[in-house]
Amino acid sequence: MTNRQKKPLELYVHIPFCASKCLYCDFLSFRALRSVHEEYIDQLIGEIHAQGACCHEYQVTTVFIGGGTPSVMDPFYIRDVMQALSENFDISGDAEITIEVNPGTMLQNKLHIYRAAGINRVSIGLQSADNRELQYLGRIHTFEEFLKSFQCARMAGFSNINIDLMSGIPGQTLDSWRNTLKKVTMLKPEHISAYSLIVEEGTPYWNMYGENAGGGGIYPSLPDEDTENRIYHLTRKFLADQGYGRYEISNYAKPGRECRHNMGYWTQVPYLGLGLGASSYVGGCRFANERDMAAYLGLDFGDSSREAALQALRGPVQQLTREAKMEEFMFLGLRMIKGVSEIDFVSMFGVKLDNVYGPVIERLITNGLLQRKGVWISLTQWGMDVSNFVLSEFLIT
Ligand code: SF4
Repeated sequence: MTNRQKKPLELYVHIPFCASKCLYCDFLSFRALRSVHEEYIDQLIGEIHAQGACCHEYQVTTVFIGGGTPSVMDPFYIRDVMQALSENFDISGDAEITIEVNPGTMLQNKLHIYRAAGINRVSIGLQSADNRELQYLGRIHTFEEFLKSFQCARMAGFSNINIDLMSGIPGQTLDSWRNTLKKVTMLKPEHISAYSLIVEEGTPYWNMYGENAGGGGIYPSLPDEDTENRIYHLTRKFLADQGYGRYEISNYAKPGRECRHNMGYWTQVPYLGLGLGASSYVGGCRFANERDMAAYLGLDFGDSSREAALQALRGPVQQLTREAKMEEFMFLGLRMIKGVSEIDFVSMFGVKLDNVYGPVIERLITNGLLQRKGVWISLTQWGMDVSNFVLSEFLIT
């Protein structure tokens, strides 16, 4: 099979380890000893070998090594994972390969090893430039440590850097958020993600700020709705003035530096998750890897038991119906500022977009929430402000 005939595939590699647990975090991540890191990486490489054997018809266009905090581990483990990926998958020569890192866990030598291993993009979890806000989140680092990490990444040769920011932090004000945006944009990263804090059930924050919770105790309150709104509008304007295009509801980039991995996700490019709890969408099916570490480590990915191990790893596989795929096309595609293309819809589903969603689209256009430009349908500014409502209108089932 030539490369031109191969289908695109994105890879996500999950590293579930962190230095400590942030108070708001509900990701699959935890502290572990170095011996567990080693055992996990050995097993992950076994899984990469087994999964790669089933993916000959794909060419990998992006890799995202996320977590957790991949940079908490010895960097040679990441090098070994990268080597296993390149030996078992056909990775395109111009693939975007990102690693998530956290300040406080990034030393210069680690970054050099990542570069040498072929990683070409770094995503740094900063969240805030205010040290008190970082403390309220339970982050392990200060803004000053982040600055050092950022400079180290530049010195190691990374010319494509994302910085993750978070709004809605306890005690955050419009001024402190403006200050965070100022300090971050002065560094000129290529990409900025700005998500709002969500108080998830099962986290310490849930007991402090969730439904029926008594409040943060010694921690300040969450910003009120008016402040949240102002923060939201300031973000868009401030980043636009600094040359960052908003290409998705929460993502901003310098021209040409949009995250290809995310764009693939929003346009339904198949992705394969590798590692503990990682999710996949391949061949119109969704599945998620085993989430229990002991069970994951117990799988035998040897050649003779590969099929059984992959089956046990994936658990139930959900085959998406045509309607569910259409819904996802709209939900995910409309998150992007450019929106969804009528041509893509026809080529994917063999039916015109208006034949399925015509009345919904017309109603939302009349109400000023959607707009049509040529073959593109996208959210208006107001539609983006109330995107949860607009997207829910595209449910068929
Ligand atoms: S660093 Fe990220 S993954 Fe780890 S605990 Fe904090 S938020 Fe969760």
